[in-house]
Amino acid sequence: MKPFTYLRADDAAGAIAAGGGDGARFLAGGTTLIDLMRLEVMTPSALVDVTRLPLAAIEEHGDAVRIGAMARNTDVAYHPLIARRYPLLAEAILAGASAQVRNMATVGGNLLQRTRCPYFRDLGSPCNKRTPGAGCSALDGYTRSHAILGGSEHCIATHPSDLCVALVALDAVVHTRHGDRERAIPIGELHTLPGDHPEIEHVLEPGELITGVELPASRFAARSRYLKVRDREAFAFALASAAVGLDLDGDTIRAARVALGGVATRPWRAAGAEDALVGQPATSATYARAAAAALDGAVPRRDNAFKVELARRTIVRALELAAGGS
Ligand code: SF4
Repeated sequence: MKPFTYLRADDAAGAIAAGGGDGARFLAGGTTLIDLMRLEVMTPSALVDVTRLPLAAIEEHGDAVRIGAMARNTDVAYHPLIARRYPLLAEAILAGASAQVRNMATVGGNLLQRTRCPYFRDLGSPCNKRTPGAGCSALDGYTRSHAILGGSEHCIATHPSDLCVALVALDAVVHTRHGDRERAIPIGELHTLPGDHPEIEHVLEPGELITGVELPASRFAARSRYLKVRDREAFAFALASAAVGLDLDGDTIRAARVALGGVATRPWRAAGAEDALVGQPATSATYARAAAAALDGAVPRRDNAFKVELARRTIVRALELAAGGS
């Protein structure tokens, strides 16, 4: 690990001032950052420890629920407000990593989790995300874990977060602070597509601190599911996952949410699938049409072509489970 300066922030203003410094990074749970520093994939000159900031509350704000950026994943998943109002989010968090990692990881850090593309983590392999302009080893390499949606000729790495997929389905809003300026960023606008610049992964500026996530009132609580398909039950990233919610009027779908993980370069809202569900009977045939719409435009490669059918089946099964109710 390269040497770095460690700074502990006691208030948000101090954290933002220090975090905006050249080469500085915020340190929360450290479950991604420290790994990548050990590998020397990330080499910040300073770490600004933000874990002491008073940003861990989970509370109701009017109709919404606000989760502080420093809330640990475990505390979110088992909080009564989340379990009752957003079971989809709890299910997604508990599908991720291991209990030990969930105890450390924070919501703010999870939003900025970095890809598990093996070439990104291997200094011996060219990677545009790690070194802009170096080339992408995955394009002609082993692509089993890579994206079939949202990729570019410069990067096809999947976004690894389970939590973000649920947040996308729930229309969460990310709150940030930068100096005196506060922003409310819809989660669907937080993460960027790789395009020509895979090294840019989100719209935050250097030193912009995530302070919390707001979940609007949801009508999908009773009929929502997060279904994750992976190689083993624990500590494995999704090959395909689906966060879905249904609002039914009798047997007719009044509103729907579908978001995908494990198959796209960012947490993926499947608007085409939602359009295919609304106004239709809640049947497996409807779900199959929606799943097909969700994978419209997919670009599979040699080793990940199986993900097209896997993602379709994951969506259909998640919708069947959601329709069954809690
Ligand atoms: Fe790097 Fe993206 Fe290519 Fe992986 S897919 S090697 S992260 S540029």
